[in-house]
Amino acid sequence: MRRPTVRRTASTTLGVDVGGTKIATALVDAGGKILAEHTIPTGAERNAAPVIADIVACVRERLGPHARDAVALGVGVAGQIDPSDGTVLDAPNVHWHDVPLGAELASALGLPVFVTNDVRAATWGEWLHGAGRGAHDLMTLFVGTGVGGGIVSGGRVLTGCTNTAGEIGHVTIVAGGRQCTCPNRGCLEAYVGGWAIAAQAREAAQADQAGGRRLTELAGSVETITARTVAQAFREGDAFAQRLMREVARHLAAGIVTFVNAFNPCLFILGGGVIEGVPELAQMVEGPVRADALVAATRQLRFARAALGNDAGVVGAAAIARDAVAGRTR
Ligand SMILES: [Zn+2]
Repeated sequence: MRRPTVRRTASTTLGVDVGGTKIATALVDAGGKILAEHTIPTGAERNAAPVIADIVACVRERLGPHARDAVALGVGVAGQIDPSDGTVLDAPNVHWHDVPLGAELASALGLPVFVTNDVRAATWGEWLHGAGRGAHDLMTLFVGTGVGGGIVSGGRVLTGCTNTAGEIGHVTIVAGGRQCTCPNRGCLEAYVGGWAIAAQAREAAQADQAGGRRLTELAGSVETITARTVAQAFREGDAFAQRLMREVARHLAAGIVTFVNAFNPCLFILGGGVIEGVPELAQMVEGPVRADALVAATRQLRFARAALGNDAGVVGAAAIARDAVAGRTR
């Protein structure tokens, strides 16, 4: 007798997370569970064609026989996306410009493909299957090398007029402040992003060589200090690194106060490499946010750490694809 396979067929989708250093592909069920996963290096300086060929090969050959039953594929890419056709307009980490990623993957795999921003995908992952399950008003803030997030308001993910809602790393927290990687100065990212923590630590260690001695020892030289170095020295109890992280927390709190006042989430989820390196940051910001944000905006506010780690992107991209083929809009 033929076993019915309709339920499984209808419930699995594929998720892909294209990052600057690696590409993760996964087969994900309707509950957000990863059934199979495979990761490959992005390959520095490669253009889009071989990367797309690699994604196709991973999906066909590396995720097991059930990957063939998946009904759609979602992709998260660090960059700006045209949601109408899944074109990657600009993805600086992988040096892509106007790449028709959605169309090419759909044609190669014979599946509906939905392309989104990587942080938006991670927000979906945390919202539907991670720390945000059951919440209708939440925000995510992922603090890694760059800083981004997402806003779920009234059970819908905000996209904005041209699909860039969630670029919350680029809110101005210091008018005329430090130069950001975007055209602006004084962005949140220019103070708390991994690259910015590294730059500020190098400047501080240069100006105070005795104080920054442990950072310089750990990194080998002032020039090679990274955010990871600061996190390591912080964990060792180094006073210089702790002062740097207090400044990071102060700026992070200033950004979060703005978001909480503007969007009034019930739940604020913090994730990303910088938070994972110094989890204490989550506690360090909560007090100042509660002290400085509007009382009415924080009455029901909870803070949480992201629960899915590096899997948030693939789980979220797969969820977006599942919703899209089912005709659900959130
Ligand atoms: Zn900026």
